[in-house]
Amino acid sequence: MSNVVRRHRSALRRTALRRTALGVAAALALGAVAAAAPASAHTIAAAPGSSVAAGRPAPPAPSTSTGYGGAVASVDAEASRIGLEVLRDGGNAADAAVATAAALGVTEPYSSGIGGGGYFVYFDAATGEVTTIDGRETAPAAMPSTAFDGWTFQQLVSSGRSVGVPGTLATWEAALDEFGTESLRDVLQPSILLATRGFRVDETFRQQTLDNEARFSVFPETAELFLPNGDAPQVGSTFRNLDLAKTLRQIALFGTDEFYGGPIADDIAAIVQDPDALGSTTYPAPAGFMTADDLADYEVLQQDPTHVEYRGLDVYGMAPSSSGGTTVGESLNILEDFGLSPEDVGQSLHLYFEATAHAFADRNAYVGDPAFADVPTQTLLSQEFADARACEIDPDLAATKPVAAGDLAATGCEAAAAAVAPADTEGLSTTHLSVVDRWGNAVAYTLTIEQTGGSGMTVPGRGFLLNNELTDFSLTCSGTDPNCLEAGKRPRSSMSPTIVLDGGEVRYVVGSPGGATIITTVVQILLNRIDLGMTLPEAVAAPRASQRNTANNAPTPAEAEFIAAYADDLAPFAQFLSQVGGPNAPGTLAGEIGAAAAIEVAPDGLMIAAAEPVRRGGGTGVVVEPAD
Ligand code: GLU
Repeated sequence: MSNVVRRHRSALRRTALRRTALGVAAALALGAVAAAAPASAHTIAAAPGSSVAAGRPAPPAPSTSTGYGGAVASVDAEASRIGLEVLRDGGNAADAAVATAAALGVTEPYSSGIGGGGYFVYFDAATGEVTTIDGRETAPAAMPSTAFDGWTFQQLVSSGRSVGVPGTLATWEAALDEFGTESLRDVLQPSILLATRGFRVDETFRQQTLDNEARFSVFPETAELFLPNGDAPQVGSTFRNLDLAKTLRQIALFGTDEFYGGPIADDIAAIVQDPDALGSTTYPAPAGFMTADDLADYEVLQQDPTHVEYRGLDVYGMAPSSSGGTTVGESLNILEDFGLSPEDVGQSLHLYFEATAHAFADRNAYVGDPAFADVPTQTLLSQEFADARACEIDPDLAATKPVAAGDLAATGCEAAAAAVAPADTEGLSTTHLSVVDRWGNAVAYTLTIEQTGGSGMTVPGRGFLLNNELTDFSLTCSGTDPNCLEAGKRPRSSMSPTIVLDGGEVRYVVGSPGGATIITTVVQILLNRIDLGMTLPEAVAAPRASQRNTANNAPTPAEAEFIAAYADDLAPFAQFLSQVGGPNAPGTLAGEIGAAAAIEVAPDGLMIAAAEPVRRGGGTGVVVEPAD
């Protein structure tokens, strides 16, 4: 596999996009939208029984829909519907994915948006090729590798120092240029309207705001936007983000240079270098090193996907800098060596835990940004390496955790073990969307600003939060760790946008948020669907557990429903469970693992768009032509 094929963005191209005559005409049209909206308050009370966004009854937002002609699944009803409209109007999967992602930046501003980054996986039905865009944030050029020294993780979370150079907007541009049929200007329009007219605040949005209240209140711009009148927006009120509408409108009219080369870049660099905290001792908000030049120099990477075969299917994912593709792939390759079935669910889940524990040991030891570390991507994806790892697994008994990373040279059951690497911290943030169009093209796109609420810093007057993605680097670094902080490096991710082909046609599109649990969630959904006899909606809704090579032989973190359903089946294998979240975890979302959005395309063309029925307040799966 050739890793980095080429870089995408070029300053010349960006310059050519600016201020055309068409742009001026569009500016007038788009400006009219903003003028129609009130310019002051961010939230207003909702009229009883009405759709706050458009003054009409809100149509139902099903978590699952079945039909033909194209499908979209995401965590949010407005975003899925905006993607669906693009498909209905003749756009393809890439067009719809960018439109959906832009809408998620409005309605899920704590999980995604133009202040962050992500990974875009695209299947082109005409050529049969899968391509990926790595839009991961990067460490600024002037950032010293000692920049985290003396700071705690919690201090870095709400700081300028953890902000990576954002890649989301460049990803959208590259996706449309390479795979799409519509302009960025066109696909941003629904989100400009959405940000202008507002959306209905639900319990998830209010709870996420409350979970972040302490640190949001430290940053005046963030407090003004997300804590109007000193409180999180009430459930049922309308949340408007006129600053974001203006920012998106400028980008729509004048191109991505407006962000990467204009005054927005200056504003980003300014707040990163001076986070403008109020000086509380609990929020020192260490300054960052980003300059406007870092933004001008940002480039997405277009690279080959990861690939493994599993039960006769072709599974494609994201190569490093994400660990998603290699770790999902290695887990499946290990499971390929075992028979799994719903008749013996206890042993199947035991093997699932052992496979992901071993794959995580290898991820932690070997995966980082391949531009800086020697990442053995081919070996981690090879069936021979997985066979050697499978030899170490007892089909009847859990191994003591953590298990050691594998010897990369091992090809048989004599595999020797290397040193144990530390596990990493987890979050509940990020968002994923899946799209399939009428032609069979598909997109799996996971995007994030890292923690829920990112760095907590809103770019003044621009309406979006900046990421804190650089906390995904190892905080303390040993000599062999491939994920040490370095200038210009991308931090290792767990995001796992995944496309599964069957005989060259798309069969499943899957992904989820959830930090490192993303990897186990994607593996578990595929296992549920392919091996354990569940339908796709059942596979998405099923209770989850996430074994990531736990320290000190601790029990596997699991949702309460998983413990209730499977603890007795797993006990004979010495597999023990502990509930995720707990009394000290913030908010109501802490007991959940992930928030998946998936699509299945049956051999006869029937599409099943399956989002979460419950987690994160439930997502929305929609299709162009619903089946009876
Ligand atoms: N920053 C994480 C990653 O790239 C995702 C954040 C989350 O989902 O908590 O893997």
